[in-house]
Amino acid sequence: MKPDVLIVGAGLAGLCCARKLHQQGVSFLILEASDGVGGRIRTDLIEGFRVDRGFQVFLTSYPEAKQVLDYESLELRPFLPGALVRHGGAFNQLTDPWRRPLAALGSLFSPIGSFVDKLQTARLRSHSLKGTSEERFRDPETTTIEALKNAGFSASMIDRFFRPFLGGIFLDPELQTSSRMFHFVFRMFSLGSACLPTEGMEAIPRQLAAGLPSDSVRFGAKVVRVQPGLVMLESGEELRAGAVVLAVDGTGAAQLLGDVMPSAGQSVTCLYFVARRSPVEQPVLVLNGEGRGPVNNLCVPTVVAPSYGPSDESLVSVTVLGIPRDEELLQTEVRKQLRDWFGLAADDWRHLRTYRIPYALPNQVPPALAVPERSVRRQSGLYVCGDHLDNASIQGAMVSGRRAAAAVWEDIS
Ligand SMILES: Cc1cc2nc3c(=O)[nH]c(=O)nc-3n(C[C@H](O)[C@H](O)[C@H](O)COP(=O)(O)OP(=O)(O)OC[C@H]3O[C@@H](n4cnc5c(N)ncnc54)[C@H](O)[C@@H]3O)c2cc1C
Repeated sequence: MKPDVLIVGAGLAGLCCARKLHQQGVSFLILEASDGVGGRIRTDLIEGFRVDRGFQVFLTSYPEAKQVLDYESLELRPFLPGALVRHGGAFNQLTDPWRRPLAALGSLFSPIGSFVDKLQTARLRSHSLKGTSEERFRDPETTTIEALKNAGFSASMIDRFFRPFLGGIFLDPELQTSSRMFHFVFRMFSLGSACLPTEGMEAIPRQLAAGLPSDSVRFGAKVVRVQPGLVMLESGEELRAGAVVLAVDGTGAAQLLGDVMPSAGQSVTCLYFVARRSPVEQPVLVLNGEGRGPVNNLCVPTVVAPSYGPSDESLVSVTVLGIPRDEELLQTEVRKQLRDWFGLAADDWRHLRTYRIPYALPNQVPPALAVPERSVRRQSGLYVCGDHLDNASIQGAMVSGRRAAAAVWEDIS
């Protein structure tokens, strides 16, 4: 039977679009090129470890996620607020800069600029918390690095903390990402916790898919052509519906729509190792505040959520920004840095898997977010959603899916 709507892509945007259409009694079929739901949020099971395809975290404060997800059954395991910053040959604990900025920064950034940095962090917090999340996306737009400098943060505060922290979130060590995203992220960290679901990040899209009828997704269905009310699969098969929603990533959407290709997205490499003993005892994010070496950040998912692996070993997740060309050199350099940080024990860590992700996030350099919610309506019968239309986050992808469903509903009802 012909569905009312064909959705291309079973990432968060496609799933949230489907969810909303389902609630409204609109029939749909999701066409997904790969073998599972989740898009950029997938978790592999390797040798008993839950290995997320690239390190990412879920923020409990995402307003859309609060509406859409059942947090309790995700059994979210929080990171400690703050970070462990590697600097000056030691690990320095930075406790909760989001909620207690005045208390958090003293030891690490003293004496250079510490007083000003504390005050600025408190000021930033109060600005980020004002009004609604939508209002933060209407703040004047500049780059994140400019916003930090304009706010008066010291170079050491920026280089030791903001660059590795925000660089790891935006996958952008130069911090050229829109300041609107920065204010939004600061707000989210101030209002909630960074977490991993007990069963891995993929539990999030899986939960969304579980709320849909069982035959909602057709896997291995790569779409090669779209037009209002029609899609063509790689196999040559044509499918028709009242409307088509394109819920693929930004470059995929531009290709299928014949648009000008957007500038390259942010890329990242994530290496996983197995250690006999965890290098950290707490569920904490470790940041490279030294400004040298390939590792931007690392964590031990099995300390955050023990269900990420067997009880007698630890899973270490190491994030390197970009995709270094020489694989062997990368391994050598990463291991050298890990040995420097954690001693000879790091030499015994077993390499489990490396993920190279060429398009992890859409580029968000200004004026990328000049219009915070770009139009999801292409023409009657053809709609688009995905994080590239809102912002590069779980929140952005979810909102765009809901907006696309609303546009379809508006047009057909
Ligand atoms: C390494 C990494 C770290 C991240 N860290 C965070 C984080 O900490 N916090 C956060 O909030 N966000 C993070 N993100 C971003 C977040 O994961 C994404 O914004 C979100 O998952 C995007 O969802 P989407 O539905 O828009 O796109 P996608 O997840 O890309 O979904 C698109 C789907 O369309 C399918 N598809 C593509 N082309 C076709 C075709 N021709 N035919 C059929 N199907 C097709 C794809 O297979 C995919 O399933 C991270 C992302 C990555 C990769």
